[in-house]
Amino acid sequence: MTKYSASWENDEVSVDIPYSTAGIGTTIVVTSKFTGKILLIDVGDGAVRDLVEIGELDFVTEIDLIAITHGHFDHMGGLWTLLGFLRMLGRKKPLRILIPNGCDEVSNLVSAFKESYSETLPFQIRIFRLQHNSGFDTDFFKLKSLSVEHYGMENQSDREVLMPAVGYRVGIGQTVVSYTGDTRMCDSAEKLVEDADVAIIEATYERHPDPEKRVHLTEMEAKSLGAKAKEYLIIHKKPEAGRNVIAG
Ligand SMILES: [Zn+2]
Repeated sequence: MTKYSASWENDEVSVDIPYSTAGIGTTIVVTSKFTGKILLIDVGDGAVRDLVEIGELDFVTEIDLIAITHGHFDHMGGLWTLLGFLRMLGRKKPLRILIPNGCDEVSNLVSAFKESYSETLPFQIRIFRLQHNSGFDTDFFKLKSLSVEHYGMENQSDREVLMPAVGYRVGIGQTVVSYTGDTRMCDSAEKLVEDADVAIIEATYERHPDPEKRVHLTEMEAKSLGAKAKEYLIIHKKPEAGRNVIAG
């Protein structure tokens, strides 16, 4: 464990967050203990390296579903490497990827990957676009997406733009795991975490840096949200290095 990792488990589920910082990468690995099936929520840089560390190579076949919260690079930058790794090791099972509707970064990446390897890709990749209050069930995971208020800063006008962004509530057996994704305080963030067995909550700011900036939660806000869940984990803080320049 490092200061940038976190984990949680009960009898049914283990949650591993091998690494999460704002502006670099976040990957959440949710594993059903009864079936061994894996849900990945966000695929940050280094995801393959971290998956190999956690579970050797079982994940190549055991990844049941990938759910992306939004198109910022630190939440989907490891996806190309993961798809390449699954192709290299010959995964056969179709792979489903959930994205918020309008998340062009992921749909374009997947299109480019499929086009690049159209003759040699041994598994299907299917994208599903989710709205506010969408449900998506597999045999192992039951997801609900709620749109959250996450503003992007990386545009030419230097004005914040509301992004396609969701958080997820995930049912695994009797256990509920929820993840806010990146968000500022909003009704959906409260609904996502309410009574969850574990809520995974971002807290990029130690305190509000500027009342005009509406990108992320503060640690105090994250803790107040966490109090609505049975237990909570705070992730997505700024890394020590570069903390003055990383917006996340
Ligand atoms: Zn973001």
